[in-house]
Amino acid sequence: MIVAEQKPLQEIKELIAETQKVLVVGCGTCVTVCFAGGEKEAGILATSLRMTSKLDGAPKEVTDLTVQRQCEWEYIDPIGEQVREVDVLVSLGCGIGVQALAERFPEAFVVPGLNTTFLGLPIEQGIWEERCAACGECILGLTGGICPIARCAKQLLNGPCGGSQNGVCEINPDTPCVWQLIYDKLKAQDRLHLMLEIQPPKDWSTSRDGGPRKITREDLRLVSEEAE
Ligand code: SF4
Ligand code: SF4
Repeated sequence: MIVAEQKPLQEIKELIAETQKVLVVGCGTCVTVCFAGGEKEAGILATSLRMTSKLDGAPKEVTDLTVQRQCEWEYIDPIGEQVREVDVLVSLGCGIGVQALAERFPEAFVVPGLNTTFLGLPIEQGIWEERCAACGECILGLTGGICPIARCAKQLLNGPCGGSQNGVCEINPDTPCVWQLIYDKLKAQDRLHLMLEIQPPKDWSTSRDGGPRKITREDLRLVSEEAE
C-alpha cells in the first residue's frame, strides 16, 4: 500500500493561511490503513484547524468529508458541490489523490495535508517499511522475493557492498543488509546459483528516469468503447 504521514500542523496552517472556508478531504483506502488520512484523521485535523485558527484570532470555517478513494474519478465526482463552496481543499490522500482533486476540479485550490512516503507494508503494529520502488521491471524472481531496489541504499544488483557487516547495512545499525537477506533466503531454498548470475546494468527507463509512465490496455479500451 501507499504509506504516508501527516504534515506538521504549522505547515498546513501556512498553506491555507489566506483562505477562510476549508474542506479537509480524507481518503478511505491506503492512508486510512496507515492512520494518516482516513475519516478519523480528517475529523481530527478539521477540529485542530478550527481551534487553532480561533486561538489565532482569525477563525476559519473548517469542514471535513472522506471519500472511499481519492484516486478515482467516480469517488470524487460526487463531492463537486462541497468543493465549490470552499476556498481550499486540504487533501489527506496520497500525492495521487491530491493531483486527482486538482485535475478534476481545476478551479479549486488544493493543498496536500500529507507527505507521501513509500510503497510498503505494516510489519508490526505502528511500524511500516518500504518494500517496492515501482521500478517497472520487477526482479523479485531472481532475488528470493526480496527487493534490492527498494531496500538497498545503493540499489545494488549483484550482491552487497563493502559496508555490509554482520548482516547489517552501513547506513544504519537497525537496517538489515538486504543482500544478506537475499543470500540467506536463496541459500535456504538451495537457489544460490541465482546469485552467481551477473545481472546487467538495469534499464532505468522503465523507472522514474523514463519520465512519467503510462500503461495502456487496448483490450480494456475496446470493451469500454463498445459499451458507449
Ligand atoms: S524490483 Fe522493482 S517492481 Fe519489483 S519490488 Fe523491487 S522496485 Fe518493486
Ligand atoms: S550494506 Fe547491503 S543494503 Fe546496505 S548499501 Fe550495502 S549492499 Fe545495500
